[in-house]
Amino acid sequence: MNKYDVIIIGSGLGGLLSAYILSKNGMKVLVLEKNNQIGGCLQTFTYAGEKFDTGMHYIGSVEDGQILYRFFKYFSLLNDVNLRKLDTEAYDTISIIDKTYDYAMGFDRFIDKMSGYFPNERENIKNYINKINLIASKSPLYNLNEINSQVLLNIDSIKLSVNEFIDSITTNTELRKVLAGNLPLYGGIKNITPLYIHALIQKFYINSAYRIVGGSDSISKSLYKSIIGFGGKVLTNSEVVKINCNTEKAVSVCLKNGEILEGNSFISNMHPYEILRMLDTHLIRNAYRQRITSLNNTISNFTIYIKFKPNTVKYYNTNFYHYNTPDVWGCENYNLENWPCNFLFMHQAPKDNSNYATSAVLIAYMRFEEVEKWKHTFVKNRGNDYKEFKINKSKILLNELEKKFPGINSNIESYTCSSPLTYRDYTATKDGSMYGILRDKNSPIQSLVSQKTKIPNLFMTGQNINSHGILGVTIGALITCAEYLGMNYLIKQIKNGG
Ligand SMILES: Cc1cc2nc3c(=O)[nH]c(=O)nc-3n(C[C@H](O)[C@H](O)[C@H](O)COP(=O)(O)OP(=O)(O)OC[C@H]3O[C@@H](n4cnc5c(N)ncnc54)[C@H](O)[C@@H]3O)c2cc1C
Repeated sequence: MNKYDVIIIGSGLGGLLSAYILSKNGMKVLVLEKNNQIGGCLQTFTYAGEKFDTGMHYIGSVEDGQILYRFFKYFSLLNDVNLRKLDTEAYDTISIIDKTYDYAMGFDRFIDKMSGYFPNERENIKNYINKINLIASKSPLYNLNEINSQVLLNIDSIKLSVNEFIDSITTNTELRKVLAGNLPLYGGIKNITPLYIHALIQKFYINSAYRIVGGSDSISKSLYKSIIGFGGKVLTNSEVVKINCNTEKAVSVCLKNGEILEGNSFISNMHPYEILRMLDTHLIRNAYRQRITSLNNTISNFTIYIKFKPNTVKYYNTNFYHYNTPDVWGCENYNLENWPCNFLFMHQAPKDNSNYATSAVLIAYMRFEEVEKWKHTFVKNRGNDYKEFKINKSKILLNELEKKFPGINSNIESYTCSSPLTYRDYTATKDGSMYGILRDKNSPIQSLVSQKTKIPNLFMTGQNINSHGILGVTIGALITCAEYLGMNYLIKQIKNGG
């Protein structure tokens, strides 16, 4: 039987990046993906002739010298991923009821723009930016600095919540809301989400913010090509159903079709609940199982994928975060009457650099309980009542969009939509959660999932360790692969450009 050095379960971003690193460094790697398309949240689909992204819409810090640029260089992604810069004066717009505020790119521009809305707050806004920069600068991995201790993040940024931090910056209630306004990017929850998540994300996008042109699957396809080039193997339609262990360690995985594949070690790119489901061994103690399964997850979403009539809608180069509630916090606690309390509207960058948009995505929070009654159904086979549910939700959400962009609905040629069930079924993430495990500043250690499991040769990677998003998952892949290669070796390799 073919034995692999490393078997990676799941071909999400974390699984592919780990496969890239380990196969580049001479290991015999196999990636197993349950779906027929690789990529997890990087998956795209085509509807009415338009290609849609499902979980990677914009990325940051990707200009020469910036952190994601350096990673993209190492992962040979620079030539394969086409990007279009968002509006430097407004890469994100925060819309609160009937007022809008733009986030500008570049720290000075951000301060100037924000001070334009809040002239008396310039010093506080400067202070906010300085503190964000300070927190980010203290994380060695986010700066590709070698590590000499276990401390990866400033402890204050873990124990303080985003809102506590913002409240300490200013007493201006409107500015507080504006600074927290892109919180759907991380599913932020008041008094729970730790500051470091906000700080790292803000810095990441203020540095520079870009949309991916032609589909986020350009990332997974490029990584796939490199992994194969290094001698690795990626198999789709290969769902792992069990991880077999002997008395000391994991020895093989069992696929849904009954095939057994042996490895010296294993990396799970799945949600931690999934991996625990597949392990029936005394090596996993009940206390560990209980701790992991009791962790909360970030909320899921309902998304409408819109195709516009040709040449009717001017391309809008800004991400539009709207709140129809007076506060930006708490939208996850919507009720059926006031849903959606908020939404995120993003045009997809047109392939030909045209001034007209061809498509857009419209995303609103949705809790899994809304679709719970269809939880035993699978994609495309959920019955007419589910279809009706989606039609009704779409109408409500599109009405909200029309209020902010009058006339837009008449320019929609057609649309399709997804629910928390879609995400659950395409990524196997618990309840279709957008960003996996919810980090909690009140129990910082407990809500951190380690790359190490209780099984010595079984590791985890992906958004549930470290953090989510393109940068969080990339750093997570480094943390996982450092178990094989050592972190400082990896950092040197990346700094040397590969
Ligand atoms: C709506 C949405 C919008 C987002 N927008 C952005 C954005 O604009 N910018 C950004 O940086 N980030 C964004 N993110 C976050 C980002 O997409 C994720 O954090 C990241 O892609 C997750 O990667 P992952 O490695 O954890 O794997 P996942 O994407 O969760 O993939 C896991 C993979 O494992 C596979 N798998 C699961 N179980 C099995 C099994 N039993 N056998 C085999 N394979 C299995 C799944 O099929 C899947 O392919 C967004 C996420 C969502 C949901």
